[in-house]
Amino acid sequence: MDPQVAQFMALVKAKDPAEPEFHQAVQEVAESIIPFIEENPKYKHAKILERIAEPERVLIFRVPWLDDVGEVQVNRGFRIEMNSAIGPYKGGLRFHPTVNLGILKFLAFEQVFKNSLTTLPMGGGKGGSDFDPKGKSDNEVMRFCQSFMTELCRHIGPNTDVPAGDIGVGGREIGFLYGQYKRIRNEFAGVLTGKGIEWGGSLIRPEATGYGAVYFAEEMLQTQGESLKGKTCIVSGSGNVAQFTTEKINQLGGRVVTISDSTGFIHDPDGINPEKLAYVMDLKNIRRGRIKEYAEKYGCQYHEGERPWNIKGEAAFPSATENEINEADAVKLVGNGCKVISEGANMPSTPNAIGVYEKHKILYGPGKAANAGGVAVSGLEMTQNSMRLPWTRKEVDSRLQQIMKSIHETCVKYGAEKDGFVNYVKGANIGGFVKVADAMLAQGIV
Ligand code: NDP
Repeated sequence: MDPQVAQFMALVKAKDPAEPEFHQAVQEVAESIIPFIEENPKYKHAKILERIAEPERVLIFRVPWLDDVGEVQVNRGFRIEMNSAIGPYKGGLRFHPTVNLGILKFLAFEQVFKNSLTTLPMGGGKGGSDFDPKGKSDNEVMRFCQSFMTELCRHIGPNTDVPAGDIGVGGREIGFLYGQYKRIRNEFAGVLTGKGIEWGGSLIRPEATGYGAVYFAEEMLQTQGESLKGKTCIVSGSGNVAQFTTEKINQLGGRVVTISDSTGFIHDPDGINPEKLAYVMDLKNIRRGRIKEYAEKYGCQYHEGERPWNIKGEAAFPSATENEINEADAVKLVGNGCKVISEGANMPSTPNAIGVYEKHKILYGPGKAANAGGVAVSGLEMTQNSMRLPWTRKEVDSRLQQIMKSIHETCVKYGAEKDGFVNYVKGANIGGFVKVADAMLAQGIV
């Protein structure tokens, strides 16, 4: 490791030793940014990197609620307000039993760079709870969301902090959260994104992260005169991001042969066509079942407890969770002829997996660039709420495509190497950093 990176990381780790995911995210950025800062000493003197790695504010609170048998349950709620240099804090809420402070800090840190890349005026934040919506009734989820928002509502606002969804937080949860905010604050404000279309939501917001990750893959492939048409694609996850990634790949003529959940993956060599995808959406969004049922219905293979990275394909779209591709998985993917990886999930590849992609010079779009379409359309939802004027599907989709194109151009601008290879990790990190860093310089030591 570069000695300056090692020195910086020693300070970060000493402050919060028990946050490995946060260390991982910060180190990846530091490796790109420290050499850049050396060439641009104004950032070094103002200690911008040290300040960016420290949240502006961290909120931790108790979330008590009553389950269906009348027993009291207690969860922990969090909101990390990471950086507001270029706009109100913006970033999703995650409800999952693995949620802890370090995971949310990694997500909030990534969000600062991602939001900057979108070209829209949004700062970075993230929040959530260790509450597990799986196996809970709708009424239990509602009571939890109401208790969570009873505390959160005093910290957020359309010009302060605007949360959205993430793992375990979809349309149902956003509805319950919004209802409680409105009831307590007595205002119909654009304080959450991912809202229903009838009450302030934007068209294309549910689709945006998946669609954006596919648009980004197309941009990367175009640099080599290729496209997704006719390509076999490996997708992980079967939630919001995986579903709309699959939909867009189908529309562009590719074939998705895998999807997964936390218990295993299915392999359907014929492809998950629109009819089968509609089944997945009903299974996961309405019936809240397991992906294994897909294999039983369509007679294909189900691999219990495994991830799909040993299946042959030319494109991969990790869309489940962090660190889901390790070095051995990356070796399998590359060995099987994978040419492009576009990350719908946040930090799904371990540092060693990224090393494999870089060694083989494959097209690799890191999450903070490739999955920025979701927050970009959240930003467009905020604009529409401020104007009190909804845009058409076509209008939002064309803005989304334009934003993904612009993020790609920024990555090329800061990440192109002498031999023509584009290091998208470096490009996204520096491209995201510059705007936030310049705003911080202009605003003084705050
Ligand atoms: P969902 O809750 O809709 O779906 C998550 C999917 O990933 C489910 O299939 C889930 O399986 C699986 N999964 C979750 N945790 C694990 C785990 N520990 N191991 C294996 N599988 C797991 O979430 P999203 O689709 O919204 O989010 C997926 C990823 O995309 C996350 O990394 C998120 O941060 C990222 N992202 C999401 C955005 C959005 O707009 N929603 C925006 C940008 C990034 P199961 O059903 O078994 O839990």
